[in-house]
Amino acid sequence: MRVILLGPPGCGKGTQAKLLSKRLGLEHIGTGDLLRSAIRQGTVVGMKARTAVESGQLVSDEVVNEIVAERFARIDRPQRFAMDGYPRTVMQARSFDAVLRVYALPLDAVVLFKLEDEHIIARLSGRWSCPSPGCKATYHNASYPPRQHGFCDDCGTNLVQREDDRESTVRARLVVYHRDTAELIPYYKGMGLLRDIDGQGEIETIFQQTKKVLESC
Ligand SMILES: [Zn+2]
Repeated sequence: MRVILLGPPGCGKGTQAKLLSKRLGLEHIGTGDLLRSAIRQGTVVGMKARTAVESGQLVSDEVVNEIVAERFARIDRPQRFAMDGYPRTVMQARSFDAVLRVYALPLDAVVLFKLEDEHIIARLSGRWSCPSPGCKATYHNASYPPRQHGFCDDCGTNLVQREDDRESTVRARLVVYHRDTAELIPYYKGMGLLRDIDGQGEIETIFQQTKKVLESC
């Protein structure tokens, strides 16, 4: 089974990728991990990525493509995998297709976790954390609110929102997501690989739906 997981930030695809790995034995490939590992090992493309990371720039599409290609060029290349966070654009998808063709590892499915923007905003921008060093407690307006609004249960410190959890940041990430996937979704649909999953609900329910969809591929 070789599958790509797509979906907006906060849709839970990372959690599902972990479950697919644990229960179905698929290798969970996240580009963040690949990137860190290439940098640590000092591979040719790892050095390029390191330059970008150290100067505070985004790692380019080309470099990410090369890092994925490098992983698949190894003798222990993943035969069965759940790809999480890649490809993000059609340009990356074309590059990944070419890599998979070289090793005769065709994709079985591209699973799209669908979730309304407003749900994502509520889910992500409801997160609050305690800034007190050594506390690090986290809360959520809907699922785990603090006893007293705005204050840490454990130490009474004023709660703050991380930059990533602010509504404006979440909205900006969604704009990028929709821009990129506007091309990517029809691309995989055209190849007959796209499978939609309702991303709202319990983690376990979503997992069972995903499993069922994958089994029918
Ligand atoms: Zn605290």
